[in-house]
Amino acid sequence: MLSVEEARERILSYFSVLPVEETQLVESLGQVLAEDLVAPFDIPPFANSAMDGYAVRAADTQGASNESPVELLVTGVVAAGQLPDHALESGTAIRIMTGASVPDDADAVIPFEDTDELERRESGGSSEAIAVHLQAETYDNVRGAGEDVQAGATVLESGQILRAGEIGVIASLGHADVRAIRRPVVAIVSTGDELLEPGAGHQPGKIYNSNAFSIAAMVSRYGGVPRIMGIARDTVESLEAALEDALDADLVVTSAGVSKGDYDVVKDVLSARGEIALWSVRMRPAKPLAFGVLDRKDGSKVPHLGLPGNPVSAMVAFEQFGRSAIRLMMGKPQAEKPTIEAIMDDPIRNFDGRRVYARVHVYRDDNDGYRARSTGNQSSGVLSSMARANGLAICPDDIGMINAGEIARVEMLDWPDDIF
Ligand code: AMP
Ligand code: MG
Repeated sequence: MLSVEEARERILSYFSVLPVEETQLVESLGQVLAEDLVAPFDIPPFANSAMDGYAVRAADTQGASNESPVELLVTGVVAAGQLPDHALESGTAIRIMTGASVPDDADAVIPFEDTDELERRESGGSSEAIAVHLQAETYDNVRGAGEDVQAGATVLESGQILRAGEIGVIASLGHADVRAIRRPVVAIVSTGDELLEPGAGHQPGKIYNSNAFSIAAMVSRYGGVPRIMGIARDTVESLEAALEDALDADLVVTSAGVSKGDYDVVKDVLSARGEIALWSVRMRPAKPLAFGVLDRKDGSKVPHLGLPGNPVSAMVAFEQFGRSAIRLMMGKPQAEKPTIEAIMDDPIRNFDGRRVYARVHVYRDDNDGYRARSTGNQSSGVLSSMARANGLAICPDDIGMINAGEIARVEMLDWPDDIF
């Protein structure tokens, strides 16, 4: 039986990084940047005010205080987005708003709070002059051109993962698109005569196809583009037809049909269309796993991951193998799932020397440590205990049991996969 790591390594050897595409910035979250980005101009592009107030020459405010304010003549106003229409003359001030371009020859901004602005406004006094209550130092409240990024500087490097901050920086450079490694398209084929699509009326003897949706959600969460291909029945014709439409994806995922009972159809069809290996992986849930490649008409090949049918097995197997494949195709390093150590409230039993992934809810105890309690029935068909879980606690294959009160490693399901 293969270990999880051995199975993953074999699987990943069939994948490569996808080509680069031009992506709309708004769509690029989580993709890997495929170009160095050099600032074509300074950011900010011009010196601007950090406050609402008065642009002045700092020297003119020498000695200003509450007791001895300095009065300056107000010669104009400049709002954000406008350019000043004259330079600042000695002994004067220009009213200025946050983000507005600082007039030539001004070297500081006095915030309204440090002037008699409010008193004047309330008493209906003249706004032709302003009294300054504070001595300004040069560059006070002025954001210099290029303070953030200087023209010609490399702001972002190829290989960086695009997060909100990076995306904002790219927008600030004026780009609406960015070159990034393409997202993998993952076709999801569900198999089984018992399956109904959600939305259809309930029928006796049938269950709803939940796997397609939980797997599609995981594909999206890891940055891929899910394509739900519908349900193939347990016949050669039906499965062939479903696969035909799936072949142009970057990864074909099937669910069910790989356990002992009925995998013959899936296996026959898949081996007729490429090659397939059925593996037993030393894990619980999700021992039966199929992996192979399917031949496209043009002679190229597409990897195929055959997940077990049981809903929790399908999800746990996708976490371990599908996630890694998507990361590789997207050009991301093979980061482990974020893991913590927690004191178990409930035991994890390991019956047969496989690595057990137990559905748990991790919480903070009074001492700020982590504890984990079982989310209930651990049968591989019980999806509700997966929905209640925020982590998978691990009992290693060579340990028969982790008792309550002992420490287990927990893979956190929804923690960010990339922490830098
Ligand atoms: P199989 O691998 O076909 O033996 O399926 C194992 C178990 O998973 C059976 O109880 C199936 O009914 C169930 N199952 C298979 N496919 C799905 C699916 N798409 N959604 C929910 N349950 C499924
Ligand atoms: Mg079946």
